[in-house]
Amino acid sequence: MNGKHLPPLKRSLGVDPRGARPFVHDPAGLARLRRLPSVNSLLDRDEGARLVAVHARAPVVEALRRHLEILRRDAAPFDAETFFAGVEASLTRPGLRRVVNATGIVIHTNLGRAPLAEEALAAVAEVAAGACDLEYDLDAGRRGGRGAALLDLVADMAGGEAALVVNNNAAAVLLAVAAMAGGGGEAVVSRGELVEIGGSFRIPDIIAQGGARLVEVGTTNKTRVADYARAMGERTRLLLKVHQSNYRIVGFTAAPDRADLAALGAEAGVPVVEDLGSGTLLDLRHFGLPHEPTVGECLEAGMDLVTFSGDKLLGGPQAGIIVGRRDLVERLRTHPLTRAVRCDKMTLAALDATLRLYRDPARAVARVPVLRALAAPLAAVEARAEALRQVLGAGQVVSTEAFVGGGAMPEAALPSAAVAMPGLDAAALRRASVPVIGRVSGGCLLLDARTMSEADFPAVAAAVEAASC
Ligand SMILES: *Cc1c(COP(=O)(O)O)cnc(C)c1O
Repeated sequence: MNGKHLPPLKRSLGVDPRGARPFVHDPAGLARLRRLPSVNSLLDRDEGARLVAVHARAPVVEALRRHLEILRRDAAPFDAETFFAGVEASLTRPGLRRVVNATGIVIHTNLGRAPLAEEALAAVAEVAAGACDLEYDLDAGRRGGRGAALLDLVADMAGGEAALVVNNNAAAVLLAVAAMAGGGGEAVVSRGELVEIGGSFRIPDIIAQGGARLVEVGTTNKTRVADYARAMGERTRLLLKVHQSNYRIVGFTAAPDRADLAALGAEAGVPVVEDLGSGTLLDLRHFGLPHEPTVGECLEAGMDLVTFSGDKLLGGPQAGIIVGRRDLVERLRTHPLTRAVRCDKMTLAALDATLRLYRDPARAVARVPVLRALAAPLAAVEARAEALRQVLGAGQVVSTEAFVGGGAMPEAALPSAAVAMPGLDAAALRRASVPVIGRVSGGCLLLDARTMSEADFPAVAAAVEAASC
């Protein structure tokens, strides 16, 4: 609780803030204030002693102070039962809480992006609970490459010679820039692709952080291969293509063909790297979505390296995946920055299990939650919305549009269905013990069924009930 947000205490204590003349502007509030118990007296009560036994003294004292301060600020009456329930809830609440994503945005960056497949969760639990062969070669009985088997699988699934996995895609791009063009080399980027993702990832800043010099080519709407060719010189170390993840330039536009850009780089001996952003291994047209180049297609077109996220369309853990030419992957792997952006065994285990599902695309669609949410036919989503309406015993099923999210395909909507809950307060749903995050449209709260599963319904029902009383 931040003291700055409290109204001046003087005022409720009855001192006129404009002068010295005392006055009582709220006698009832003042009387309630006097009746607030002390921290020590609360600790002496059975409830206080029980909390100390469970949570230790210092955090309990701190929580009691904080909750007393709230009562004082609001001049609210003290009720022991509610008070201790609030204190206990604040002591047991984890720093990261489960919420229900009822927004209709499948990959919601604010809500933790991709939920993991059960297979991935099981793999995480297994390696996290004990020891694993993270950097150990079981055949040779000595130190081995970190996640070597997984990296072979990644390369294989993505269609590249070799692969590297780092903390996230931002780190992958930074590493690629630093390893290729760090130390003052030039990185050439189209003016139409100087993107900003999520407020803090901006291509010009990443290039500067990587120690390279940005050379912009073309214009906002049109860039041709000849623009790249003209800009290339002695110090050119990298041609970087960046996916326009979260925006589109429409109308009079041009961008070079991947194959032509790749040929230009190959001729000059300059690596061509594509930051694909979301990055998918499957053709999204199967889901009724517009075509997005897959990682394999980009490599086939001649990109030397492709980088993409693990927790966007892939539906795995947060990770930055780099695939492509073996010699370049090796250059990245041995760069000093790699140690600082590496990921842990839990991430690698989750990624491994997720990728294994992709060996059979039908199985991936059935088991990876992101793909399942995208692939669900409208009729199934409508049936789920109707089932939720019945569980809630309130609301009305309406047609909505869901979105892929995660900065992917900003204009591609998926037909969806939601339970509309007129009169229900979105903020009250967020205060539930399992908060439910809906979407407000036309003043009405919508609970979108495309991003929920039946397993979420009890939590939604509890939140709606708590919000309604
Ligand atoms: C999302 C995105 C990133 C950042 O990826 P993270 O995995 O969130 O670090 C970088 N580039 C593009 C084009 C993206 O869409």
